[in-house]
Amino acid sequence: MIEALTDWFLREGRALPFRAGHSADGDRPYYVLVSETMAQQTRMEALVPYYGRFIARFPDIRTLADAGEAEVLALWAGLGYYSRARNLHKAARAVCERHGGAVPDSLEALRALPGVGAYTAGAVASIAFGLPCPAVDGNVRRVYARLFMSDGGDVSAWARGLMDQAPPRLVTESLMELGALICTPSPPKCGRCPVSEHCRAFSEDRVADFPARRPKPPKREENRTVCIVRDGEDRVLLRRRTERLLHNMWEFPVEEQLLADGFAVRRDPAPLGTASHVFTHIIWRMTAYGARVTTDKQPENYLWAKGLRGLALPSAMRAWARLLFAGE
Ligand code: SF4
Repeated sequence: MIEALTDWFLREGRALPFRAGHSADGDRPYYVLVSETMAQQTRMEALVPYYGRFIARFPDIRTLADAGEAEVLALWAGLGYYSRARNLHKAARAVCERHGGAVPDSLEALRALPGVGAYTAGAVASIAFGLPCPAVDGNVRRVYARLFMSDGGDVSAWARGLMDQAPPRLVTESLMELGALICTPSPPKCGRCPVSEHCRAFSEDRVADFPARRPKPPKREENRTVCIVRDGEDRVLLRRRTERLLHNMWEFPVEEQLLADGFAVRRDPAPLGTASHVFTHIIWRMTAYGARVTTDKQPENYLWAKGLRGLALPSAMRAWARLLFAGE
């Protein structure tokens, strides 16, 4: 099976900029660390332009370590799951402090870096260093569940066994690619699958039964009254978030928060518009109003901004950014 899988990958795998043969010469372990961190919760195609901009600005791990968090977040803006960016930044600093600026080549040292879990450590260890360390994500679990008609089983041990038969880098990338392109959640493209003759679910016509679906918990909905506050100098009021969600990112403030921070708020009666943003566990239902504010002293974490360029503004704010600064 492994030969059919890796042959297929070498023939049909996507020419992604961080893959061997497609990335510039340089710090390959760093490229893998960045791309695999970005790839968590994000489709490969979606992350490619972000990756390009990120590597252009931070071509090596030391440059990333030396940068300020605000700039790292600004380059991540739009990718979501910003704790990944914060952790990647901390990991870069830890690599410089503990390992002299070289991404470590052991699973244990990789796992000890901030934000680096079993999956990312396995991906860097196998892809960048050729170590027999599996990287098991949802894609690989799905492939395994269908191949063996099993929702249990030791997926890591199976992937490690494949690494006895082919280079670890090829095994990791081939499995990820199969899950991303062919053995997709639904419907999988079994007619084009290089390993269909080894697949139990396919041979028994039970592909739809694996992996078993677990009901997702409902998302909590939050209604937010967004205030678009401008002053006489054509500046707009932004707030730097202190909450865990979107921590340190800039937002157009909500009325409730403005009041809590000591502003008096007068908002227009008619809304400017509505928008929703879906996070993993929460949905923001936002209604925006033009507003004016007064305050005795400007509280911390607020900024009167002329424009939004260079500021870490999350995707959730895009609708209002477009409304205000079309073309920026
Ligand atoms: Fe997945 Fe279908 Fe291939 Fe089986 S045959 S591994 S279900 S794509």
